[in-house]
Amino acid sequence: MQSQIKSEKTHFNKLQKRLRREVGRAIAEYNMIEDGDRIMVCLSGGKDSYTLLDILLNLKTYAPVNFDLIAVNLDQKQPGFPEHILPEYLESLGVEYRIVEEDTYSIVKEKVPEGKTTCALCSRLRRGILYRTATELKATKIALGHHRDDILETLFLNMFYGGKMKAMPPKLVSDDGQHTVIRPLAFCREKDIVRFSEFKEFPIIPCNLCGSQENLQRQAIKAMFTEWDKRFPGRMESMFRALRNVAPSHLADSSLFDFKSLTADGKPMEDGDTAFDPVDVPLTFKDETDEEEKPDQASIVNIVNL
Ligand code: SF4
Repeated sequence: MQSQIKSEKTHFNKLQKRLRREVGRAIAEYNMIEDGDRIMVCLSGGKDSYTLLDILLNLKTYAPVNFDLIAVNLDQKQPGFPEHILPEYLESLGVEYRIVEEDTYSIVKEKVPEGKTTCALCSRLRRGILYRTATELKATKIALGHHRDDILETLFLNMFYGGKMKAMPPKLVSDDGQHTVIRPLAFCREKDIVRFSEFKEFPIIPCNLCGSQENLQRQAIKAMFTEWDKRFPGRMESMFRALRNVAPSHLADSSLFDFKSLTADGKPMEDGDTAFDPVDVPLTFKDETDEEEKPDQASIVNIVNL
């Protein structure tokens, strides 16, 4: 019994360390937090936003820069929303917070015809309210709890249904140029966040209160990723690395690379194309972020010579 408790504790410490390290790496790489920032942390009551707040609160205690956090929850008046959970949790932490009450649920129900998807209007309304709240609170940054798997799912959704190579950026400026949005969990794996929130026993609020079915396509992609992650450990890491390692000259977007002016001038190019060499495919996909999860034989893939 004692040894089981000890091993769980060790497991939790490793997990917490990994999540904190990944958040630190993302913040540094994209310069997400600067001295004097007042960061509005959007808290939905799901595992991701609880994890985000937990890690940022910890970071605040030792970061070399000074920044403030204010947690914000938007109560969209969905039926059955347990209003007391977040205020009680935030008060127990002693965190500054604001609960914004706006009945977007009724607006969406009234405007969107029965059977049509509600998420587009709901998200637009929510975004507007959160931006307005950030201005009222004089927040310099808005932090969202999207993680690596959300980013990859969005990439695939955009490729499958939108015809765009577009994911979710770790940092962006809002379309009106007024707000900077950051995603400090951008490098964190969803499965780590799930385990972390179980260990921490966050008071999770169910996310299906609106009854929307829209996320079915996202769920299908999630299921595909879960299957890949089992069969090919490291594939998710490799896909995410690809997002940070883009070669516009090897895609087909002529607005990103000037193909029209491309001509052979006889001079060797450092990143020039070898054209006829096979793509370098490793024998195994290795998950480099998790020493505990070694790739097994099932992850060995056949190389098809190109
Ligand atoms: S799932 Fe529900 S709460 Fe979330 S964006 Fe869609 S309609 Fe809104």
